[in-house]
Amino acid sequence: MRQEPTPAFETSALSVSQSGDAVAQTLADDSWQLALENADDGAWDWNVVTGEQIHSRRWKEMLGYEVQDIGSGYAEFESRVHPDDLPAVQAAARAYLEGRTPGYAAEMRMRCKDGSWKWIATRGFVVKRDASGRRLRMIGTHTEIAGHKQTGAKLLDLSVKVPETALLLQTTLASISQGIFMIDAEGRVITFNLRVCELLDLPESLMATRPTLAEITVYQLARGDFGPDASELDAGLRGYILGVVSRLEPALPLCYLRRTLAGRTLEIRTQALATGGMVRTFTDVTDYVQAQAELRESEGRWKLALESSGDGVWDWHIQTGEEFFSKRLLELYGFEPHEIPARSQELDQRTHPDDRAALQKNRQDHFDGITPIYINEHRILCKNGHWKWVLSRGTVISRDAQGQPLRMIGTHTDITERKASEALIWQQAHFDALTGLPNRNMLRDRLTQEIKKCRRDGLQLACLFIDLDHFKEVNDTLGHGSGDQLLVEAARRIRSCLREIDTVARMGGDEFTVVLPEVPDPGSLEPVLHKLLDALGAAFELGDQRVFVSASIGVTIYPLDAGDIEDLLKHADQALYVAKGAGRNRFSFFTPALQEAAQSRARLTHDLRNALAAGEFRVVYQPIVEITTGVTNKAEALIRWDHPTRGAISPAEFIPVAEVSGLISEIGDWVFQQAALQVKAWRTSLRSDFQVSVNRSPMQFQHEDQARQSWPACLQAMDLPGNSIVVEITEGLLLATSANVEEQLLSLQDAGIQVSLDDFGMGYSSLSYLQRFDIDFLKIDQSFVRHLIADSTDLALCKAIIVMAHALGMKVIAEGVETELQRDLLAAAGCDYAQGYLFARPMPAKDFEAFMADRQFN
Ligand code: C2E
Ligand code: CA
Ligand code: CA
Repeated sequence: MRQEPTPAFETSALSVSQSGDAVAQTLADDSWQLALENADDGAWDWNVVTGEQIHSRRWKEMLGYEVQDIGSGYAEFESRVHPDDLPAVQAAARAYLEGRTPGYAAEMRMRCKDGSWKWIATRGFVVKRDASGRRLRMIGTHTEIAGHKQTGAKLLDLSVKVPETALLLQTTLASISQGIFMIDAEGRVITFNLRVCELLDLPESLMATRPTLAEITVYQLARGDFGPDASELDAGLRGYILGVVSRLEPALPLCYLRRTLAGRTLEIRTQALATGGMVRTFTDVTDYVQAQAELRESEGRWKLALESSGDGVWDWHIQTGEEFFSKRLLELYGFEPHEIPARSQELDQRTHPDDRAALQKNRQDHFDGITPIYINEHRILCKNGHWKWVLSRGTVISRDAQGQPLRMIGTHTDITERKASEALIWQQAHFDALTGLPNRNMLRDRLTQEIKKCRRDGLQLACLFIDLDHFKEVNDTLGHGSGDQLLVEAARRIRSCLREIDTVARMGGDEFTVVLPEVPDPGSLEPVLHKLLDALGAAFELGDQRVFVSASIGVTIYPLDAGDIEDLLKHADQALYVAKGAGRNRFSFFTPALQEAAQSRARLTHDLRNALAAGEFRVVYQPIVEITTGVTNKAEALIRWDHPTRGAISPAEFIPVAEVSGLISEIGDWVFQQAALQVKAWRTSLRSDFQVSVNRSPMQFQHEDQARQSWPACLQAMDLPGNSIVVEITEGLLLATSANVEEQLLSLQDAGIQVSLDDFGMGYSSLSYLQRFDIDFLKIDQSFVRHLIADSTDLALCKAIIVMAHALGMKVIAEGVETELQRDLLAAAGCDYAQGYLFARPMPAKDFEAFMADRQFN
């Protein structure tokens, strides 16, 4: 049932007053009437000026009257108030109207229709003032408090904020961002936090009076809080405002409502409690709603605008995984709309694997609120199998109460062209246009990387400055065209001398820089340095012109010569300067000691070149003795160099130099020839089964020269059987095995030449190598023999080697045997042969023959 507003009310001066028309209008409208009708509490609307007062149906019901029983008018109310309570009621009204209390509240007995008295609490607020602030109208409620009074409950003490027992709870509530209040079974607020006052714009003083929901609603209505949004309120909200929600709620254990209040949109969550009360929380979702609204409003236009700019649009519902792609977006990747399902994984799966990590991170940063907008550049696989670079941009446009993203919208912009031009710019910034080599910038990048690696792995690297000698002359006489041609060819030649892992850069002009990582020791650089000098020293064909330029090289070693890039480059430049000053066509190390060593090696190399022709080499022989019988049927050929000025130079010193300079092959062949001639003679004069072993350096396997006669062919030409020679190789050769090495070893063996593995135990030979290559003899390195005594580790090692070698069908030769003890221990261990000063030093053939003769007679 509904009571029609009285004409008096309608036409009252209050409702058509000056300012705040909207408020007045709202108060007069349906919702206000409904509120009055349906609230648990009775309601009244009092025109303070005229004294008119209307009472809701509920107001009348409380006292047992029919709707028509009580007319409108303040006098009606006062006439029913217990005479003892009336003064206090009037005083409270006066105090409020005079502004001395925040609200009008009083408790009194009221007379029912049947003559009995009922305790009623009343509360009210001014809802309208005139321009001068004079109170014109008040509205308020009546609540039954019979229970209170009969159980001896005290009058509500307005100064008590919350019961003592709720203090702890309140402390907790004070710290949360949501507004919250709890209502007891009687419908009164028993606990609240300040945030709720803030969000609902309720005075703390009001909440402190433990108002009912209806009272709060009335207060808000009075203020016009709902006015502008009244039309937008949904059914649940309407119920709330009307005060009926409290009655409905026990049936709804949990419900959500949303309403707008003072420009803020609140999400209201109501949870019924088992005790009959409820908890209501208020969350400010204004931003979310706003974003949604904006989106709703602009989505169409926005998408259209983006589409026309050529971008593809995506719309991702994060929780459901649904993702919608605009037609243009699918077009970007060559798809028809029906070819791509509306799923978020679709594009993720098409994202280049290298780009996924960054994408995920940027997306997460945006989800976490670290970045205001999500931006990422990545490649997407097109239908035709090509990758397309896109710029993806987006923003989360809605989140749940916990802040988890719900929906995200964004675009894809084709940046393939931009990426291509960026790549071009990068190429130009990092590579030399003429030679295609990395330029100065790129070199720095690489050098930085390599230095990092060196630090990490404890390695060394070399940095070379190469400068072409006489380039300027070519440029000046033959012109820039020829100059450029020469530079291109020089670049090619430099590159061809280097390994894959090395970097060559053109620094400008005729200057090149080379970075050689993983340099074990500076001495090992010499082969490549010589190679570079040779390559650049060879003739250049420029059109019909033939020109010669040479190169000078400055060498620095990291970390030996410098601790950082700047110093490394500076010192390489200084070393280059030294090389130029020393007459060009040479290299120079930055470190004096290295330079000294390099120079002495250079001198040695120079001298070595002449030594062969000058007859400065000779071969000596050291007997290899059968350990159990003492019979000598083998000898090792060892080279000797009698330097014209320096005297005897040890092979340990000059063999490595000969290896680096490539002279080793020539020298080695000469030794082999001498040994072959010698063994041929000794097979007649000493023993028919005599063998001479010849050392063959790994370098001799590498530089196999077709023009040179192979050793088997040599033997054949000399009419010597293969087994007259044993070739001594080292373990390193087996490790660095290549098809070529294997082939050569096989051809030796095919010719009946036996193979001895020299210096065994020093390297890294594994059993598999020994098995793979058919090795005949194993030479235990001197270092194991040197300290051989009973019960030593070395003896154990020797024993193990011997057992192993025998198991693999090899004979064992112990090197460097100097004492009888060593010989006896080795003999006891089962060693086959021994070689060392105990028997004889390496000696000229004549002496060797005497040695043999000597042994025969003893
Ligand atoms: P290697 O092949 O291990 O030769 C054995 C070295 O041990 C020889 O040094 C020899 O004089 C020395 N020696 C022999 N018995 C004893 C001993 O009882 N005690 C000590 N302390 N040393 C002993 P040498 O002649 O100075 O040769 C040094 C290295 O030079 C050789 O080691 C070999 O690797 C290399 N070499 C010598 N001649 C040639 C050659 O014609 N061609 C090649 N490629 N390398 C050679
Ligand atoms: Ca040897
Ligand atoms: Ca040896």
